[in-house]
Amino acid sequence: MNLPLASLRWDNSFARLDEAFFQRVLPTPMPAPQLVAFNPDAAALLGLDPAAAATEEFVAVMSGNGRLAAMDPLAAIYAGHQFGVWVPELGDGRAILLGEIVTPQGSRWELQLKGAGMTRFSRMGDGRAVLRSTIREYLASEAMAGLRIPTTRALSITGSSLPVYRERAETAAVLARLAPSHVRFGSFELFAARRMPDQVKQLADYVITLHFPEFAELPDEERYAAWFREVIDRTARLMAQWTAVGFAHGVMNTDNMSILGLTLDYGPYGWLDEYDPGFICNHTDQTGRYAFDQQPRVGLWNCSRLGEALFPLIAEQPALAALESYRGTFETTIDQLIRSKLGLRTTEADDLALQGELFALMHREAIDYTRFFRALSHFNPDDARTRTAVEAEAAAPAALTVWLDRYADRLAREVTTTDRQAQMLGVNPKFVLRNWVAQEVIEAAERGEFAPIEAVRQLMAHPFEEHPGWERYAGPAPAGVVPVEVSCSS
Ligand code: AMP
Ligand code: MG
Repeated sequence: MNLPLASLRWDNSFARLDEAFFQRVLPTPMPAPQLVAFNPDAAALLGLDPAAAATEEFVAVMSGNGRLAAMDPLAAIYAGHQFGVWVPELGDGRAILLGEIVTPQGSRWELQLKGAGMTRFSRMGDGRAVLRSTIREYLASEAMAGLRIPTTRALSITGSSLPVYRERAETAAVLARLAPSHVRFGSFELFAARRMPDQVKQLADYVITLHFPEFAELPDEERYAAWFREVIDRTARLMAQWTAVGFAHGVMNTDNMSILGLTLDYGPYGWLDEYDPGFICNHTDQTGRYAFDQQPRVGLWNCSRLGEALFPLIAEQPALAALESYRGTFETTIDQLIRSKLGLRTTEADDLALQGELFALMHREAIDYTRFFRALSHFNPDDARTRTAVEAEAAAPAALTVWLDRYADRLAREVTTTDRQAQMLGVNPKFVLRNWVAQEVIEAAERGEFAPIEAVRQLMAHPFEEHPGWERYAGPAPAGVVPVEVSCSS
């Protein structure tokens, strides 16, 4: 289906909840908005005709300057634990939910404008997002989708000359973001902390009815526990998926944890270049609370905060049992993902040692995580050139020789080389959104050149394909490119 913008069907179910859940508020217009980026893949999810991008109406609606009658815009309230510290009231301080689009197939997408002006929840903020941060979120969410990892999606960026002051003067932009729901762990925490159990239940029922219909018919005493368990499963699996692709979120506060298990709120994230388990992507995170290798633990900590918020709905035993299942789900998933990265279909007693040695080696030798697994996907024990290519990923090629011998022995008891190579090339991406690549695109956009946004989006949307001619983006920063620090300011 290719519908014009005005023909999309809307059903604003969140706006039908009671007023305790949100503030009705309209976006604040920006002067002379222009289209910076448009994502046809996201348009396809909505059944939206990509030709819509060329219309004035699209730019007006997605920048917050125009409005369709069927929308019921609002800012949602939530709370959260930020860096472990309880913050009793947060909320959409700069994101405005326009409403929900229901596609001809019946799926539901909330359309949210991030950076669309102040709301009751803006606190000290200006309600705006800068061009730089919208490009970072736009590209990262599409990269994540390309990696087949649950995430919010990005439909468009509109920009304006409106100045926005961060560490320096920048310009305003609005990201049009899509997700089946933007409800967060912190949405439940707010009502639990305010001793409003009816609202906790109302929100849980809302989320279950629309997004977890498989549990809707269960009796009360089973429904909430089964749903909580599912949220825990999704969160544990998400942490394993992030780990397997070398992604660090950077701000895993409970208000950034999606109740649907999506990657949500891209700020100072980073993908690993060289393998470093202690990698801290967020310059503001001085203690490393959200370091790469802490994420699985933090995921569980966050699920525990959600469990406390749901305390009125779930008995203690099933709640604890659900939390206890987290670790097993994470471990099973990460084991499966790493095996698949290594091309191992059978299981042997020494496999864990083989993995452990590899990760220690990658760390010690500062080997590029993504490039290494991609090179390994081409490895053929009978072809010396493919071995040389893997060895070249270490500064001292001999560092990998012993491990590769062991790996070659192990592969001798696996499926054929061609089958394994094809399987590995389908799980070990050639492209991840490295910080320097995002930065290069941002600097071009700040000079008014928007074409690289779409070029890089296409690479990241198909990260397992070769894309000849784009090798430059498949590695760490070229010499001379100064790395930028990313922080919470966006
Ligand atoms: P974050 O950790 O970036 O997801 O944001 C935490 C909270 O700060 C959320 O409630 C945001 O809505 C709010 N916030 C972030 N930036 C701004 C801004 N520029 N203006 C108003 N609120 C903001
Ligand atoms: Mg947030």
